[in-house]
Amino acid sequence: MLRSVIYQEKCKGCGLCVVACPKHIIEINKNKLNHMGYFPAEVIDPEKCIACGMCVTACPDSAIEVKETENA
Ligand code: SF4
Ligand code: SF4
Repeated sequence: MLRSVIYQEKCKGCGLCVVACPKHIIEINKNKLNHMGYFPAEVIDPEKCIACGMCVTACPDSAIEVKETENA
């Protein structure tokens, strides 16, 4: 299954992917800080991902990929 994967340690929490996602399944996780001190984005409902790649295009930090996932 092709799904978006967010590498949270590369994320700067800018929120551009949140706005870009047509399925509204990305949120900034305010309960967590990554090693750079940012609140990272996360996919809250991965089953709804249509692998459109809008989030990948939007991310200025190359923190998202759309790739084949095993457990989805
Ligand atoms: S690939 Fe598309 S649907 Fe999936 S999280 Fe990214 S923007 Fe949303
Ligand atoms: S666009 Fe990239 S850096 Fe910005 S919140 Fe999303 S994953 Fe993080």
